Amino acid sequence: LSDRLGGVFDRLTKQGALTEDDVTAAMREVRVALLEADVSLPVARNFVKAVTSKATGSAVTKSITPGQQVVKIVHDELIKTLQGDDAPDALRIDNPPAPILMVGLQGSGKTTTTAKLALRLKDREKKRVLMASLDTNRPAAMEQLAILGTQIGVDTLPIVPGQTAPQIAQRAKQQASLGGYDVVMLDTAGRLHIDQQLMDEVLAVRDIAQPRETLLVVDGLTGQDAVNVATEFDGKVGISGVVLTRMDGDGRGGAALSMRAITGKPIRFVGLGEKMDALETFDAQRVAGRILGMGDIVALVEKAQQVLEVEQAERMMKRFQKGLFNMNDLKGQLEQMQKMGGMQSIMGMMPGMQKMAKQAEAAGMDDKAISRQIALINSMTKKERANPDMLQASRKKRIAAGAGMDVAELNRLLKMQKQMADTMKKLGKMGKGGMLKQAMR
Ligand code: GDP
Ligand code: MG
Repeated sequence: LSDRLGGVFDRLTKQGALTEDDVTAAMREVRVALLEADVSLPVARNFVKAVTSKATGSAVTKSITPGQQVVKIVHDELIKTLQGDDAPDALRIDNPPAPILMVGLQGSGKTTTTAKLALRLKDREKKRVLMASLDTNRPAAMEQLAILGTQIGVDTLPIVPGQTAPQIAQRAKQQASLGGYDVVMLDTAGRLHIDQQLMDEVLAVRDIAQPRETLLVVDGLTGQDAVNVATEFDGKVGISGVVLTRMDGDGRGGAALSMRAITGKPIRFVGLGEKMDALETFDAQRVAGRILGMGDIVALVEKAQQVLEVEQAERMMKRFQKGLFNMNDLKGQLEQMQKMGGMQSIMGMMPGMQKMAKQAEAAGMDDKAISRQIALINSMTKKERANPDMLQASRKKRIAAGAGMDVAELNRLLKMQKQMADTMKKLGKMGKGGMLKQAMR
């Protein structure tokens, strides 16, 4: 997509706001990208429509191109659509034993996911989990779950031949109550296609189990089909969430968007492999990047927007390289830090500056401290800011009082400004562009 969009974006003129033509041209490509990622046609269409109206007329941030701006808007909207209201991994499993019903087509990864999730609940949430296979169709299916159970150290319901799925569900619930389990996971049988018999069985099991969560397991590689499956299951059985498996494959994740848009049900986990630990909480951001296939651009745009004024930063850079770093510069830096979430995090991001980040932390440069420092600078006159060396005792007193702090705090600020000026000078001399400048990129 990056390549294709690149062409369109090159033609976008650099102007104050995105015009309708800019957006329309870019959206044609976005639509194709969505379809290529296996997003269903109506969902892609609606999505593009929503984003188009949002993007048209929106101001273009100076430091990025209109094309990058469109990508950012598309990306944000994708995340919004993909994200549920609650944390995806917050399962309703209070009130033990809480039944979790796993449903889906055969081969979607139900049994594997049942075990993965059981392991997760056991390890991360310290839950006692009982697993039961209700798959009476395939003789090996029950064995499969028992083997996985042994492997991960989770109990499975003993196999009693000849029982129907609802009977097993009943027994599992009883066993879970008697055994003091927190969660009882019911792994149901699947079929290659949805049919009445499958649905009837799932419904019978559901009525007996009264699940707190009904998780639909779908193969993330199946795209369109996944959406039909989700719609069917949700309509007939009612699902509380979705697990997308095989997200380690090269599917683009469009199924996630379609399912979310059509069923409105949250995607909770993604399967990323056959191993038992290959289950992760659904991450809307990551999937959005995957659907667009352009994580780089998005990261770049986000960075540019965070730093906000790269131009301003570069102007400052020039000053720093000359060893000029007065209170105005410090204030500018402090304000940027505030935007980006504190000194430590920015410095942590810059190559070779982790050590300074630690020093900053030691110097008390957290968000609160930053606000206080800005208040102190605000209480200085223009002249004082430009030339902090002129601050004598009486001026210091006035400034500190003006900001409602004591002189000791002002002295710390002054010391910091001096240190920064020295450091900036040194950094400025290192390499052509300077490290700071590179880190801004
Ligand atoms: P079920 O019929 O729905 O119970 O499906 P299974 O759990 O038996 O899984 C079918 C196959 O898919 C097995 O070989 C699993 O190892 C594999 N599988 C399940 N989840 C994933 C996943 O997230 N990634 C990959 N690569 N394979 C998976
Ligand atoms: Mg199975």
